[in-house]
Amino acid sequence: MKKGIVCKFGGTSLANSTNIEKVAKIVKDNKKQFVIVSAPGKREKDDIKITDLLIKCFELSKKGQNFSSYFESFKKRFEEIKEYFKINFDLGKYYSELLEKIKKHNDYDYVVSRGEFFSAILISKILNYEFLDASSFITFDKNEFVDLETTKQKFLNLTSNKKNYVIPGFYGATVNGKIKTFSRGGSDITGAIVACVSSSKIYENWTDVDGFMVADPRMCNNPEIIEELSYHELRELSYMGANVLHPDCVRFLRENNIVLNLRNTFNPTCKGSFIMPDKCKINHKNLTGIAGQKGFTIIHIEKFAINESLGIIEVIANIFKKYHVSIEHIPTGIDSVSVIVKSAYLCDIKESLLDEIKKQIEPDNLKIYENIGLISVVGTKLKDDINVEQKVFNCVFDSNVNLITLNKGASGLSLIFAVEEKNFEGTIKNLYKTLFLNRE
Ligand code: ASP
Repeated sequence: MKKGIVCKFGGTSLANSTNIEKVAKIVKDNKKQFVIVSAPGKREKDDIKITDLLIKCFELSKKGQNFSSYFESFKKRFEEIKEYFKINFDLGKYYSELLEKIKKHNDYDYVVSRGEFFSAILISKILNYEFLDASSFITFDKNEFVDLETTKQKFLNLTSNKKNYVIPGFYGATVNGKIKTFSRGGSDITGAIVACVSSSKIYENWTDVDGFMVADPRMCNNPEIIEELSYHELRELSYMGANVLHPDCVRFLRENNIVLNLRNTFNPTCKGSFIMPDKCKINHKNLTGIAGQKGFTIIHIEKFAINESLGIIEVIANIFKKYHVSIEHIPTGIDSVSVIVKSAYLCDIKESLLDEIKKQIEPDNLKIYENIGLISVVGTKLKDDINVEQKVFNCVFDSNVNLITLNKGASGLSLIFAVEEKNFEGTIKNLYKTLFLNRE
């Protein structure tokens, strides 16, 4: 038995019994030791994820409304899996406990965590592995952060007999033993924590895609898979909307030098993407990828010699802080400062925020650009090869778009452009064609 392989399977991989059969084959063929599972996800487009069924039950119960059809759907999905795999195990006691908690509706985290709990119990029976409850070792401190030291101690004690384990993702417990969940998609974090505390070198994250793609497949035709990228590059791409993994799992993996291998349950022969600790040497043949996001607003403050006004950036930052608006970028010039923010933050407070800027900064002119998309081109190649940067610029200029601003991060790893949303897809497509299809 090869010890120490940690693998996490997402909701689509566990959505129904045929998918679970694929998961079982992957685990058994490669003799994985720690298997982390999500709650079953959608079986088809209009289906409801198990976690969403639980949220619905909780919310309806809280409003005093009938939630029984959602609860029955929840049970039915697990009973179907039990039947398919002929599992002789009575879940009755767990259903009753859950029902009681839903009726009391005072423990949201407990209720929504049960999808992973039931999923892990059944998968452990199917694989003939031990069930190891995440709440017995993943421990949150009083600031609601995972206490990795305590978690590791408990984990090592519980797994000292070195068996094989199935662990529910998405939750742990407070020091008082109360169930606490991560944010949505948090089973990725559980997998990362298990990889850390079991001192694994590699964390396999099994999803329904072949790996991280160089561009969004909804905009670019059949983009290639990025074979290797660094955590730093992954952060840059995810920050701009390429979301395959929960961003918080990166912190644990990166600090502990663990390689993350993104794999596809439905195409297990594909090697997927390897996300490497920043110090590893990666063979970059090309740029890493293109990502982008719509829904930004630029607030452009013009004032003569604003650059000479001491502490002006702090004053601007404090105005945005007062209205709880986080700043994405803040390009500055001699006579102007632009502040780029997510438009969603401005919904109810835009006018008050602008009034405050007028009052405190007394600008010569204040311009607002709405419906802005940000596009980021990411890759170490940008640092190493001046021609690549030139190609990026030529392509954006040739795309004939009204380029509003750009930003080259201090790391030199990414170039960010702001374009009007109407030009967003077109610019990404052109960049993709130039940078990835027309390579010498
Ligand atoms: N089941 C949870 C969710 O749907 C957590 C996860 O799948 O990672 O968000």
